[in-house]
Amino acid sequence: MESGKKFHILTYGCQMNERDSEIMAALLTNAGYEEAPEEEADIFVFNTCSVRHSAENKVFGKVGNLINLRKTKKDLIVAFGGCMSQVPVNVEKLKKMRVNIIFGTHNIEALPDLLAEYRRRHKQIIAVQEKTPERIVEFPPDRKAGVTTNVNVMYGCDNFCTYCIVPFTRGRERSRRPEDIVKEVRFLAERGFQEVVLLGQNVNSYGKNLEKPADFADLLRMVNEVEGIKRIRFTTSHPKDLSMRLIEAVADCDKVCEYLHIAMQSGSNRVLKRMNRHYTREYYEDMVASIRARLPEVALGTDIIVGFPGETDEDFEETISAVEAIRFDGAFTFVYSPRAGTKAALYPDQVPKEVKRARIMRLNDVQYGITAEINRGEIGKIHEILVDGPSKTNAEKMMGRTRLNRIVIFDGTPDLTGKMLKARITDCNTFSLFGEPVEG
Ligand code: SAM
Ligand code: SF4
Repeated sequence: MESGKKFHILTYGCQMNERDSEIMAALLTNAGYEEAPEEEADIFVFNTCSVRHSAENKVFGKVGNLINLRKTKKDLIVAFGGCMSQVPVNVEKLKKMRVNIIFGTHNIEALPDLLAEYRRRHKQIIAVQEKTPERIVEFPPDRKAGVTTNVNVMYGCDNFCTYCIVPFTRGRERSRRPEDIVKEVRFLAERGFQEVVLLGQNVNSYGKNLEKPADFADLLRMVNEVEGIKRIRFTTSHPKDLSMRLIEAVADCDKVCEYLHIAMQSGSNRVLKRMNRHYTREYYEDMVASIRARLPEVALGTDIIVGFPGETDEDFEETISAVEAIRFDGAFTFVYSPRAGTKAALYPDQVPKEVKRARIMRLNDVQYGITAEINRGEIGKIHEILVDGPSKTNAEKMMGRTRLNRIVIFDGTPDLTGKMLKARITDCNTFSLFGEPVEG
């Protein structure tokens, strides 16, 4: 056991990275290290994202600062993991920066051993496995107490969208066994968690390589049976694999929330084809119509990229018209960022920066307008909310979410955290609803 050493994890990126950081924290804690705030730590673990270039620059800046700090704090250890460390040019750069340990997304389990080895030999360690491992590692389920938590149901991705680095950094798609997932959810319910978010890059293709066949609809039904859990969410859905079986499961399972995040990426069929997305705008709109017919209350979220190579003004207008026609409740919008190793980075018709910037501003204006209108329509309604804790934007207020994933800010006290209560919506802005608790 290691004693007296304190670690701090710096997390960048998506919910999957947040979950990986919890896993790293559990592995290090079980090995005898202690989690600490940044000011007190001797060991820094970076857990990084390489989906867009801008995030990478920020990370290198922070690594540089810590390496400088090592001049005065000699035993400081910098370990670097996550998607960025699966990219060979990044590994070369980190080697030159004299980062102590560089470990890949498939080497998380080894982190305590790598640290022990570094502390014995004081020699730079590089542990990056390129190939997707055959075996799925079952990690410790421990994490900090809370109301809602993420649960991995699958790893990796086989889709190879032409803009995306994920299949290269996270490897081939593989699903955890339903019994292992249910066991983890039971453990979480016993620890007081109220809500689980089931995570995968494409949950709709869950189960493809399982010994005992099961799909995501089956998994939802199994998790729905776990006592103590009050709400179930999931992300992300790929339109091409979304089945009506899944929608039926959402309709049938009382705990599964009627919020679907289904990445559209573009409204132009020409762009969708070049992105290798395997659906058309018409297919996407028909799919939304079928979902809304079965789940009239459903809220829809999406991801959209602007400025993909070759995207013309007409293509972009197709995206705007799709957004106006579908009326998503919310959207994560991205400016296309070329990623080395992906097909689209080599496309010759890259879109100039200023054009991308103008397009994202226009798209955001349109989407924010729609979200604000939808939010205004909520005023006067009563919603059941699960209280998350104090609001992140105003610590004097409390924050909860409706089943449809809308944030509700209200006057209340921290002892309400984890409670389910009814609130009347009294006001809103683009990003939040404001409410007051009501009896009953
Ligand atoms: N697997 C999920 C799916 O397909 O819905 C998405 C995972 S990805 C980490 C999250 C989002 O990042 C994608 O849906 C896409 O909109 C965006 N993204 C991925 N690669 C990108 C790139 N090179 N430039 C800009 N945005 C990108
Ligand atoms: Fe990336 Fe496409 Fe896989 Fe999503 S489905 S992770 S966008 S390759």
